[in-house]
Amino acid sequence: MNILVINAGSSSLKYQLLNPETQQVLAKGLCERIGIDGKFTYKPEGKTAIKEADVAMPTHNEAIKAVLDALVDPQNGVIGSMKEIDAVGHRVVHGGEKFAKSVLITGEVMAAIEECNPLAPLHNPANIIGIKACQALMPGTPMVAVFDTAFHQTMPPVAYTYALPYEYYETDKVRRYGFHGTSHKYVTQRAAAMLGKPIEELKLISCHLGNGSSVTAVDGGKSVDTSMGFTPLAGLPMGTRTGDIDAGILEYLMGKYNMDIKEMLNVMNKKSGVLGISGVSSDFRDLESAGKEGNTRAALAVEVFEYGVKKLIGSYAAAMGGVDAVIFTAGVGENGGHNRESIVSGLEFMGIKIDPEKNKVRGEEIDISAEGAAVRTLVIPTNEELMIAIDTAALAK
Ligand code: ADP
Repeated sequence: MNILVINAGSSSLKYQLLNPETQQVLAKGLCERIGIDGKFTYKPEGKTAIKEADVAMPTHNEAIKAVLDALVDPQNGVIGSMKEIDAVGHRVVHGGEKFAKSVLITGEVMAAIEECNPLAPLHNPANIIGIKACQALMPGTPMVAVFDTAFHQTMPPVAYTYALPYEYYETDKVRRYGFHGTSHKYVTQRAAAMLGKPIEELKLISCHLGNGSSVTAVDGGKSVDTSMGFTPLAGLPMGTRTGDIDAGILEYLMGKYNMDIKEMLNVMNKKSGVLGISGVSSDFRDLESAGKEGNTRAALAVEVFEYGVKKLIGSYAAAMGGVDAVIFTAGVGENGGHNRESIVSGLEFMGIKIDPEKNKVRGEEIDISAEGAAVRTLVIPTNEELMIAIDTAALAK
């Protein structure tokens, strides 16, 4: 079964054609600068990537058409015809409270996704455009929506309720939703397989640490708490996002520097996080090099981030009444051995201890725990496309 996975943004579109049963990725790539000057990247399995600039892509329709043409191209294509695409899985950022799992897309589902637009105004409209473009070009092919928020719909009210007047929840749906759900679901399922135990019997803490970061408490396979909130601005300090800050700071800075809320949010989303603290970069590799060269602000930025993750591990262990394994995933979690070491140092009292030699491994699925550690520490490369393809195949059958 071949599944086309589409992750559509406002001016870009990532795609992957894969077989969820064999996990074989037939081709993948990226359409960028849609509506501007169209850049197209296509990488068929086992061959070098093809990159084209100035591809006419005034809308997502032409972008998807370029993807389909490349997939069936006589020379570099990987399938004989479009009929060999059995279903399309679309990443959709926000499913609100309506979607607790992936769904087959119908007219009714489209309307419900559109109703979630106000909750993710930058992302959901772009996801919808991607779905419509595929529907136009591939009529009759089953389409599935896989939501970033769905996995967290199992959170209990005690974890998702904000201490605002309750009407804002009832009327306006203001609550914690959480994001990165597809990744947290994938790595916790992999963790159960690695530990050789049913997921129902495990208490796991999943640390998705990348450009955007979130930590999730997963008890018995269900998300019971997560660090992102109503929006992906909440929780940990990230590449350029503040994470949680005192809301009182907004009034103080907006008044002092005559900023409106748009400008303030721009600062909080794009100029803050480890970039804001360091003044150097949002990239953790740059920060590590700058820190080694004596840049104290770069070193502080990384420390603030690591300290944030450490506190979340402690609080989620408390929330679940224990923890069997801590999982590291995404760019920093998979590759940042130093970051992992700093995050877990001092947590020996909880039974968390890593083996420094094993911790040198990068981007591989591995148990890096020290011998005899009561709590396992796992590194698991995330694979959101595979998770989307698995859900899509199951629903399309
Ligand atoms: P996104 O949230 O955009 O999907 P990724 O999960 O790809 O991001 O993570 C990107 C981050 O991973 C960058 O900050 C990058 O510096 C970091 N990263 C990649 N390799 C390493 C490494 N070897 N050590 C530390 N951080 C790394």
